[in-house]
Amino acid sequence: MCGVVGISGDPDAVRLAVLGLHALQHRGQEGAGIAASAHGFLQSVTGLGLVSEVLTDATVGRLSSDLAIGHVRYGTSGGATLQNVQPYVVNTLGGQIALCHNGTLTNARALQAQLVQSGAIFSRTSDTEVILHLYARSTGSTFVARLVDALKQVEGAWSIVAMSPDRLVAARDPRGFRPLVLGRMGNAFVVASETCALTQMGAEVVREILPGEVVERRGDSVYSTYPFPTVEFRPCMFEHVYVARPDSVLFGKGVYDTRVALGRALARLHPKGVDVVVPVPDSGVPAALGYAAALGVPYGLGLLRSHYVGRTFIQPTQTGRDVGVALKLHVIESVIKGKRLVVIDDSIVRGTTARRLVQRLRSAGAVEVHLLSTSPPMVGPCHYGMDTPSKTELLACTHTHEQMVTELGVDSLGFLPLGSIREIIGTGHCDACFSGHYPVRPT
Ligand code: AMP
Repeated sequence: MCGVVGISGDPDAVRLAVLGLHALQHRGQEGAGIAASAHGFLQSVTGLGLVSEVLTDATVGRLSSDLAIGHVRYGTSGGATLQNVQPYVVNTLGGQIALCHNGTLTNARALQAQLVQSGAIFSRTSDTEVILHLYARSTGSTFVARLVDALKQVEGAWSIVAMSPDRLVAARDPRGFRPLVLGRMGNAFVVASETCALTQMGAEVVREILPGEVVERRGDSVYSTYPFPTVEFRPCMFEHVYVARPDSVLFGKGVYDTRVALGRALARLHPKGVDVVVPVPDSGVPAALGYAAALGVPYGLGLLRSHYVGRTFIQPTQTGRDVGVALKLHVIESVIKGKRLVVIDDSIVRGTTARRLVQRLRSAGAVEVHLLSTSPPMVGPCHYGMDTPSKTELLACTHTHEQMVTELGVDSLGFLPLGSIREIIGTGHCDACFSGHYPVRPT
């Protein structure tokens, strides 16, 4: 996951970047950071934790610049260490560069091995660092030329925001796996992973940065180039299903409306005679509203989510994940007791959330529990920036449908097939985690 922002041309760029990162907090809670340009030099503040913990008045208040970039991290490559928190700022023969990356590079390991062979020293364990080494070795004559030179050598998913002491550049990989949008605030040029960050900063949404596009601000104008070979556009389907914030517009579609429509589609395919429709908060909420409205069944907030508990999904042990779910989700008994329920979640990955929830709903007196997912069974890991486990940990890879019903303890289990999602969001998305068809294989 991860979220990126960049602002050029506003004297309040640092404060705006922090605001934008607040809006992108759902994309990464492991670490946050800002880089800004002051008196011709790049400075940065990075730390482990939430934006509100890391980027405070005390830490960024002294940074004043009209050019800044920022990042929130949810690591899919490399551990949760301070060194891995972005932006990465380095000095090279071609000058200083600060870099923020969302996505995963599928050839990072191979490139790193070659670079190490030729004497490179890596100080981080994330894939992003290879871009800096490739940049440093480029003989391109400008900041943008060197960056493009580096990006031509990497494969996979990269939505990039980078800066030199006097220039902001944004670039998206030719398949466009991860989102990246362009905005405007007066004369300022603003980029972010999602439109919700532009809105938060008070910027006007101009358009998506296109797959394979490099956008650069020169003077008061924005210049675009398309220096990479053309391949098929493959934006991530799971961004619609789970990652993006519901108030964002993603690949041209409103995320909230899409999720309500996914719920309506579930109602057509899996209509259940129940007393109440309960979402797994937060990502199941719009779909549950759509399902309930389509069938005229009451919607009930039978599960409450604590926003004060950190990530449960990335806990390294199953016990840790179980405890995390128990701490995070709470049952409101009056909504549940004596009722037949449809429970709607966006996805079932390892089954940890569903397994625990169903037990707790039964203990609270649910008479029937029918579990519906707005996405198909997950059958493969993501190689493009989503934190999903290997096949051996994916419930749908190790269990038949009947075994999943038994394992999760539900009365019935239903998924939305790929065809239904494509009808709603359009065709041409990357759906490798659901279909097993990978647009680019890791090397
Ligand atoms: P699991 O509990 O392993 O079945 O994972 C499914 C739950 O985790 C659902 O409630 C999703 O909303 C959420 N989820 C799915 N994918 C991810 C991800 N990559 N990172 C964090 N949470 C996720």
